Amino acid sequence: MGQNFTTISEIGEFELIKRITTEFPKNQTSTIAGIGDDAAVIATENLQQTVVTSDMLVEGVHFDIVYTPLKHLGYKAVVVNLSDLAAMNAKPTQILINIAISSRYTVESIEELYDGVRIACEEYKVDLIGGDTTSSKSGLVISVTAIGVAKSEEIIYRNGASKNQLVCVTGDLGGAFLGLTLLEREKRVFLEDGNMQPALEGFEYPLQRQLRPTARTDMRLIFETLNLIPTSMIDISDGLSSDINHLCIQSNVGCMIFENKLPFDPSVIELAAKFNLNSSLCALNGGEDYELLFTIQQSDFEKVKNHPDISVIGFITEASEGMKMELADGNIIDLSMKGWNSFSEA
Ligand code: ADP
Ligand code: MG
Repeated sequence: MGQNFTTISEIGEFELIKRITTEFPKNQTSTIAGIGDDAAVIATENLQQTVVTSDMLVEGVHFDIVYTPLKHLGYKAVVVNLSDLAAMNAKPTQILINIAISSRYTVESIEELYDGVRIACEEYKVDLIGGDTTSSKSGLVISVTAIGVAKSEEIIYRNGASKNQLVCVTGDLGGAFLGLTLLEREKRVFLEDGNMQPALEGFEYPLQRQLRPTARTDMRLIFETLNLIPTSMIDISDGLSSDINHLCIQSNVGCMIFENKLPFDPSVIELAAKFNLNSSLCALNGGEDYELLFTIQQSDFEKVKNHPDISVIGFITEASEGMKMELADGNIIDLSMKGWNSFSEA
């Protein structure tokens, strides 16, 4: 570590908070008072409901500091929360951030983390209105709380799917898991030979999907423009199979998904082949794609069928029929509960 680094104990908690929370301009008129007082103040707007969510990222559990740039980590910590708001069809407005920092981290590294937070706030037009800062015995913990608004009739829950409705996803799947697989492999190569440069060229897309994910907050406007109200919705954070399980169980329905309808980016298919992995399994069990999974009325098919951001991947059945997927070869498999954990053990 060079001599240009400052330890947190050198400047103290209050100076650290001051340094990391400056230059956060206000984007939302509902933010009355942000950082600086004992609590933030938000205006409640007429006929709107408040939507709140929280997510925690723990070093060694959710991220590996060896290959996670802190700027990306700050960005991602915000985005994963905004994805939960997008999954409710709410408009994100404010965030709060709690961090626990071990003495290994310098002031500069925490500033870098907040550079990522600032970029996310700018891109998604949300205001950082507060948080808490404390020390940790080991590693870094970041917990973000995000606040959003929506009219009551706009909010979409997990439990609204019913028989014969269509199952849709936004964007493409499997990329984040393959990006992680690539980073893990390059880390192993690097640990064996510190002179080896990572071979990441050509796979910018899956790497970006892992390190710098996107929250589909844009879908709110797309749904409005299409005059489409999904009947149920969830974001794909744990993998398609796990998240469709949540949606089906909460709606008390089953589903039939078609493998050959799953959307993939060409670079993801190429990378899966390189690792000898099945790209469909990466979509089902990979996780962290942060796309939206939703159901629509069959009569709304025309609205989505040619939309570049939406793929229809199946339909809803009765609960007694279970959650199934028809493979490209015609065989039908059970979509049992499998998150990214079980996949990484495979
Ligand atoms: P208090 O002791 O009243 O809780 P703090 O000294 O912890 O206040 O925080 C001062 C201000 O800075 C508050 O507005 C708080 O919300 C904000 N703040 C503290 N830590 C963070 C952080 N990590 N990120 C953003 N805002 C923070
Ligand atoms: Mg405090």
